[in-house]
Amino acid sequence: MKHEREDAKRLDEQDELLSFKNEFYTTPHTYYMDGNSLGLLSKRSEQTLLTSLEDWKQHGIEGWTEGEQPWYYMSEKLGEMTAPLIGAQAHEVINTGSITTNLHQLLATFYKPEGRRTKIIADTLNFPSDIYALKSQIELQGLDANEHLIQIKSSNGYTLSEDDIISAMDEETALLLLPSVLYRSGQLLDIEKITLNAHKRGIIVGFDLAHSIGALPHQLHDWGVDFAVWCTYKYLNSGPGGTGGLYVHEKHLGQKPGLAGWFSSSKDKQFDMEHDLTPAETAGAYQIGTPHILSSAPLLGSLEIFKEAGIESIRKKSLQLTQLLMDLVQSELHEYGFRITNPLEDHRRGGHVSLVHSEAASICKALKQEGVVPDFRSPDVIRLAPAALYVSFEDVYDVVMILKEIMKDKKHKNFSNQRGTIA
Ligand SMILES: *Cc1c(COP(=O)(O)O)cnc(C)c1O
Repeated sequence: MKHEREDAKRLDEQDELLSFKNEFYTTPHTYYMDGNSLGLLSKRSEQTLLTSLEDWKQHGIEGWTEGEQPWYYMSEKLGEMTAPLIGAQAHEVINTGSITTNLHQLLATFYKPEGRRTKIIADTLNFPSDIYALKSQIELQGLDANEHLIQIKSSNGYTLSEDDIISAMDEETALLLLPSVLYRSGQLLDIEKITLNAHKRGIIVGFDLAHSIGALPHQLHDWGVDFAVWCTYKYLNSGPGGTGGLYVHEKHLGQKPGLAGWFSSSKDKQFDMEHDLTPAETAGAYQIGTPHILSSAPLLGSLEIFKEAGIESIRKKSLQLTQLLMDLVQSELHEYGFRITNPLEDHRRGGHVSLVHSEAASICKALKQEGVVPDFRSPDVIRLAPAALYVSFEDVYDVVMILKEIMKDKKHKNFSNQRGTIA
């Protein structure tokens, strides 16, 4: 479908989330399309971070229980605020750790190889850190990772087939870990169908929500997903190294954490300083040490924005943005050799568009020079994430026109087609 600038402007006029853009620190004449790697700072996140600093300034150690945002309860409060974004109950969610440390914690808790049931199903397209964690947990059990980690292959190098995943499940599978949205192609997997089929075969199911949390709604509790992990610095805009989160289904709560620490304690027992742990009855049991308050506080402000905007409205706008982007790529860039590798259907794509091009690295450098912040994934993928809270439809139009100019004038030929240190 062909679109003019006027169409994009009309979509902006009808956009009920338009005003949220003013809540973020955006740079004039810059198009930030990398909210799926590091979301932008909002004024509210800045404020809640400053409040925690002020609490420290005013109260010293008493800041744990006094002050405006008492630190002792912050992880639980953030868990409660995150729960609606993933369709969980408040006590099933805690803000803690990073994706990788949370994955280690939950594998140490739920991966219990026994008899013939020793294998883990993952995929060949997941982010390396998840695979490293899986392999090291298998090896910690004294097993060979080459034999016990089953990685589902992709027929085209970009997407996975749910049927292939389901066919690989058998009585030797102990656990399954998959991304909700694939980090490269942006494919959204059918979490409900995969979970249902895994449970029929007695398999524990975990999902990594790195590329879906804050971009689309989930119903983890109703779908029966056993556990999930995510980071908060991508679509949730908590800042570099912002504290991540985890979810454990209610039916598993009360289980001792695989990796215990004093913050795994029930909160009223923690300061009894006993050497026998009484784990929290909530997902809080899967915390280990002292929470990283200054890396968590920005999320308080950010989640207020998500509450006001509503995840359903965010998803609706996100789908419109990525649809417009794909339409424009097809109508304006068809002669320049780009290939869209994310699924085109609404129910199968996440929040970003994934373009493959043999000169992707140099095109990304040219985009940066022209004020567009894309994301490059080696060797040939350009990811463009129009984050619904701070990217407008007209921005998307401009980005495609800038890209068209680059290709028409061959501006990318001024750059080497090699990646930099990061991405
Ligand atoms: C971003 C991302 C990570 C990063 O893990 P951290 O432990 O937060 O550094 C891991 N897995 C996936 C799928 C990601 O997208």
